[in-house]
Amino acid sequence: MVHPGVLPRRVIGELEDVAGPHRVVTDPELLVGSLVDWTGRWKGSSPMMLRPRLTSEVAGHLGVLNHHGVPVQFQGGNTGMVGGSVPMGGEVLVSLRDVAGIEEVDERSGQMVVAAGTTLAEVQQTALQSGWRYPVDLGARDTATIGGTVATNAGGVHVLRDGMTRAQVLGLEAVLADGRIMESLRGLDKDNTGYHLPSLFTGSEGTLGAITRIRLRLLPPHDEEAVAMLGFTGLDAAIEAVGQLRRHTDVQAIEIMLEDVLELVVDHLGVSLPLSRAWPVVLLVEAAGTAGVVDRLASVVHDGSDPAEVVVASDRAGRHRLWAHRDAHSVAISTLGVPTKLDVTVPQGRVAAFIGEVREAAVTDGASQAWIFGHAGDGNLHVNLTGPEPAGLADRILHLVVDAGGSVSAEHGIGRDKVDWLGACRGPGELQVFRMVKDALDPTGRLNPGVLFG
Ligand SMILES: Cc1cc2nc3c(=O)[nH]c(=O)nc-3n(C[C@H](O)[C@H](O)[C@H](O)COP(=O)(O)OP(=O)(O)OC[C@H]3O[C@@H](n4cnc5c(N)ncnc54)[C@H](O)[C@@H]3O)c2cc1C
Repeated sequence: MVHPGVLPRRVIGELEDVAGPHRVVTDPELLVGSLVDWTGRWKGSSPMMLRPRLTSEVAGHLGVLNHHGVPVQFQGGNTGMVGGSVPMGGEVLVSLRDVAGIEEVDERSGQMVVAAGTTLAEVQQTALQSGWRYPVDLGARDTATIGGTVATNAGGVHVLRDGMTRAQVLGLEAVLADGRIMESLRGLDKDNTGYHLPSLFTGSEGTLGAITRIRLRLLPPHDEEAVAMLGFTGLDAAIEAVGQLRRHTDVQAIEIMLEDVLELVVDHLGVSLPLSRAWPVVLLVEAAGTAGVVDRLASVVHDGSDPAEVVVASDRAGRHRLWAHRDAHSVAISTLGVPTKLDVTVPQGRVAAFIGEVREAAVTDGASQAWIFGHAGDGNLHVNLTGPEPAGLADRILHLVVDAGGSVSAEHGIGRDKVDWLGACRGPGELQVFRMVKDALDPTGRLNPGVLFG
């Protein structure tokens, strides 16, 4: 395999010939922002970033790199949390951000074909303007690309009702390691003609090819939305409420926020909590559906849970004000330094006990602090660790997850960060097939080296 740092001028010339010299960025000042990930934990290096705009240009660039045996790192919006988006071994960075734009909205069937570099926010807005809705939503919506969300099978706040990204992907186009194009964009609702390749590429974290176009399933829009913030005196009551709230079809998000992180959030935002006082546990519940959702949410909350205090917002500004507290969690924690991020799922029945165990482990550790929040509706907790040496505490917490029958990566993926833990969640037979798929599609192991496979 050729190291890109010693790429002969001739190879650079071939890359420039594909889409023009301005699509080959070598100025270190222009590269620097793309070499560090969003968390600040992963700092890589690369001699060059390629910025193709079209599938044919991606194919041309990958063809040249394949011919010369050069390793490649794919990048979308660079908001990934597991060290999978930056070139840690000096790979050539291939940014898919400029392969952007909404190509087609089929208003009749509720489908959209979109280029990979389009932001999630633009996809959501276009869907709404077309009388439909794209259900995947997460805090990084303005920067994360739709290609990145497909590559990581992103989850977000609406998984409870609408599923993860894979559930929305009807088809996709990808450029393979050698520059060949695989198009599977038909988008029939029913099509049992062999392997569903879009599902294979969804969640493959750039290890099988570059995703360039995607056909998305859209859902009918809601008539009304409402958000409630519920204060609880303790974890058990809050988790009991989650179990009750999950039964209602209007409820599409249940997020858990704890007092210590909320304190950081209100400081960071410079606002006061919308509740009359700080509660040990706060749930943010979003409901959406046909007209009358506000009344239904109010009765669901009162019948199905026992909160100490409730605030409901139905107008857009009020809903955003409540959501802002949840959206700011990651940023507020980052003000304490670069956190170690764990993104885990535990079975619903174990959530309260698990939070208690994590807190206990942090107290025993003494040096590090554990900040917990997440998507309580699907048992997905984000545990952020700050302090001088959080690695030992991180290991202890991941052991707790495995012992609880959970997953060490709920929605962020494996990246490079969780590679050592993959075997704790997947059996030997599964891992063998992972390897066979990887070897078949990337026989020389040049795509995103170190991601998913150690
Ligand atoms: C504030 C904040 C909140 C977040 N909340 C959530 C959340 O609720 N749920 C959630 O799941 N994630 C969340 N994330 C993580 C992140 O936004 C997602 O992982 C997102 O899907 C990454 O998209 P991206 O375009 O930034 O991809 P990148 O970070 O650039 O890349 C992520 C991975 O995908 C690969 N990749 C990117 N684009 C392509 C492509 N076109 N073809 C092939 N491979 C590609 C990269 O090589 C890398 O391995 C959050 C992040 C932030 C900063």
